[in-house]
Amino acid sequence: MRLSTVTMLALAAAALAGAACRSDRPSVLLISIDSLRADEIGRTIAGEPVTPTLDELARGAVVFEQAMAPAPWTTPSMMSVMTGLDPAAHGVEEHDRALAGSIRTLAQHFRAAGYRTGAIVPAVTLRAEYGFERGFEQYEFESFGHNRISSPSLIGKLRYRLEQWSDEPFFLWVHLWDPHYNYIPQPPWDAMFVQGEEPENDDVQCLKWVRNPVSPEQASFLRGRYEAECRFTDDWIARLFETIRRLGLERRLVVAIVGDHGESFVEHGFLGHTNHVFEPNVHVPLMLFAPGRLQPARIAQPVSTGGLGRTLLQLAGLDGRDFGVLPALPLAEGAGHDDSPWSAPCSRTIRRACQVALREGALKYVLDARACRESLFDLDADPGERRDVAGERPEDTLRLRTALAERHEAIAALDLPRASMPPEVV
Ligand SMILES: [Zn+2]
Repeated sequence: MRLSTVTMLALAAAALAGAACRSDRPSVLLISIDSLRADEIGRTIAGEPVTPTLDELARGAVVFEQAMAPAPWTTPSMMSVMTGLDPAAHGVEEHDRALAGSIRTLAQHFRAAGYRTGAIVPAVTLRAEYGFERGFEQYEFESFGHNRISSPSLIGKLRYRLEQWSDEPFFLWVHLWDPHYNYIPQPPWDAMFVQGEEPENDDVQCLKWVRNPVSPEQASFLRGRYEAECRFTDDWIARLFETIRRLGLERRLVVAIVGDHGESFVEHGFLGHTNHVFEPNVHVPLMLFAPGRLQPARIAQPVSTGGLGRTLLQLAGLDGRDFGVLPALPLAEGAGHDDSPWSAPCSRTIRRACQVALREGALKYVLDARACRESLFDLDADPGERRDVAGERPEDTLRLRTALAERHEAIAALDLPRASMPPEVV
């Protein structure tokens, strides 16, 4: 059939509009960093910065100074980023749980909008069977365990993917793993941040459920080794950004950098993570970097990293209305506050540890169901969470206890389906 000139022109105009629309869409790079504490950003020890690359990026980024991870371990925390749901709502709270098939993921949203989608992940806590692979056309999984170096391999795969997809809109997720215990920095990083006293046993996987397993001096030694791993990871992020600049991607890219949870060095008697919701475990770095799209800002109000997915969809101009329930991040101070039961950042441990925390401004309410105990901390006056003021401030305690109960009711009302891991995987 011969097309008329008018039809031809209309088709050409539509094609051009489509091309313009595609090229206007930013690509999105999500960099999650395992076990990275918020207070490592900007930290300098004996004149040596722990995260110089992230410090430099932060100067041009929207930085969330009070970001809370939805859980103090990887699987539920990153599943909250990928679903916009609390761990108790998406249900992937234990090693044998998986995401129900009807819950749409962030990658599915990007894929449906025509994005290339890829993930590069290094640990069993992110294996595909949990549901993390859903929506990713490439889900590159390799388990590095606790003792292998991983950043060179992960960043190498990511560079390859960036080069392949640099002309198309993409959503890429890389999870950097080296700060996770055990802390075994390689030369020359092993000579950095040496401090304290070396413990006989440095296997945090074994020590983390033991109360006060090492002395404060030995914990200081372990933290120095951990910080050397943070610096190693940061130096690899610097190389990644060299690639981003070389490919001319910097102004077409939204980069999110987030910690999946923190790490404890016996501040409250524990090493590692997973087991409680004190700040060393749940206060994480969160920043959004998009030159030409986002004005640098520092946001002091508490936010949940579970709001990151919706924010990334919005920054890409996509409709995230059917993506989870957690609110988008405020991109300016004071913006975006609502009175929904989802507005307060919340974090919870694996069920057998049974702790839940809820933030409201500087206040942090903690319910320990196993100990039948509630606590209230004023983080402005007491950033170390040493002084429980629940008894002195009964109205604040009641309000936050009620807010947590309302949140649990709202989670129950969502009535989301549950799924188990396939038995051969557990
Ligand atoms: Zn982790």
